[in-house]
Amino acid sequence: MTTTTQYKCFECNKKVSDEYLRKKVRCPYCGSKMLFKPRTASTTYKAR
Ligand SMILES: [Zn+2]
Repeated sequence: MTTTTQYKCFECNKKVSDEYLRKKVRCPYCGSKMLFKPRTASTTYKAR
């Protein structure tokens, strides 16, 4: 099981690894600082 935290760039929609963000908080591809954490599937939803 891999538990790597990955962020996504808001601009180019590419995945940015958590390791990279320790150095710089910006996208290595387009240089954008708009990064967000994609929702993980750990939350259980109850369908109503
Ligand atoms: Zn980007």
